[in-house]
Amino acid sequence: MKETLHREVVIVGSGPAGLTAAIYAARAELRPLVIHGPQPGGQLTITTEVENYPGFANGIQGPELMQQFEEQAKRFGTEFLVTFVNKVDLGRRPFTLWTEDGHEIRAETLIIASGASAKWLGIPGEAPAPEGLGGMGVSACATCDGFFFKGKPIVVVGGGDTAMEEATFLTRYASRVTVVHRRDSLRASKIMQDKALKNPKIDFIWNADLKEVLGSSETGVTGIRLHDNRTGEESEFACEGVFIAIGHKPNTDVFKDWLEMDSVGYIKTAGVSMATNIPGVFACGDAQDSVYRQAITAAGTGCMAAIDAERFLDSLPVTTPTGEEVTIEGEVISADHEKVTLPGGEVVSNLPEDQPPADGEAVVYARHSTELPS
Ligand code: NDP
Repeated sequence: MKETLHREVVIVGSGPAGLTAAIYAARAELRPLVIHGPQPGGQLTITTEVENYPGFANGIQGPELMQQFEEQAKRFGTEFLVTFVNKVDLGRRPFTLWTEDGHEIRAETLIIASGASAKWLGIPGEAPAPEGLGGMGVSACATCDGFFFKGKPIVVVGGGDTAMEEATFLTRYASRVTVVHRRDSLRASKIMQDKALKNPKIDFIWNADLKEVLGSSETGVTGIRLHDNRTGEESEFACEGVFIAIGHKPNTDVFKDWLEMDSVGYIKTAGVSMATNIPGVFACGDAQDSVYRQAITAAGTGCMAAIDAERFLDSLPVTTPTGEEVTIEGEVISADHEKVTLPGGEVVSNLPEDQPPADGEAVVYARHSTELPS
């Protein structure tokens, strides 16, 4: 067993969400500890050019951007630990995290920024360069890379909402988008299917498994090899880009016994704050976002999670997913802000007693007063 560490803020994950949370928490003098995890820097470290991160007029390489984030977080005193969290106890504060390398970490507040991983097919030619053509025509993010495929024929693999959304988005750039799906019907919601099926720039190849991405480091992607799973026939299809859109998996398994998640594993947060169902545990970035999944939105929610953690440590109320607010002392403020349940169970009024309501608030009090029993 290595040493036990006790910190006010522990951040799991070091992508844009985790490192932005670290920058904010470190500047609030909370000396955060970031646990890097298996892919330090997150998904941006496996991309090439990032053109949509504001502040870099000429674009920046993904790994370099993450290096900048890390240096900024270090400058204000963030500590880093390169290991993998394999067990947690979020049953009481301080929370306890156990790591693969034998650390036991106690956290007064925990920020989960463990990200999500795009699912891959595991076929030849798909891996990141230099092993495969990843970053050289193979991508899992249309928003990130679509721009590089202006006027080119491309393929999107998958039949869910992500595949339909990516295919539709990519028609802005591509000369033609061909969706390759392993069945003869789509999993995507009706509205997303309709949009893709009606789009004159989108074709479909049904009942087909992608077996290989063809090309070389000199040519980039030149095509794909397909297997018709009804007839057994193999064929080649020419294209210059392949977008794998078969879903994402949030890296949240280690927290699943404790935190409320959706069926895929995205952690549920309050919406107006990054609080989870456990007071003092916050989640940000792709671990809780199945919709936007961008570096800038991840960074934004990382900032929010750090400010939530700061507020919580300062004994200020933080909004939970139920709409109630909680404090570090265990007080629960009702969603309408009118009652406070104290840690012992006693319920007291949260309305100011000696302060006359401001003009705007008077309407609110009048409305509530009509709901009181006569
Ligand atoms: P889904 O799991 O819904 O769909 C994955 C698709 O990829 C399925 O069509 C599946 O095929 C196919 N697939 C999976 N594994 C393989 C494989 N090994 N080989 C070939 N094909 C494979 O994931 P999505 O990312 O599309 O969606 C995830 C969630 O996010 C959903 O709830 C979705 O509604 C939501 N979402 C919503 C959006 C929106 O509303 N704007 C946008 C994007 C996502 P099969 O159908 O045969 O299983």
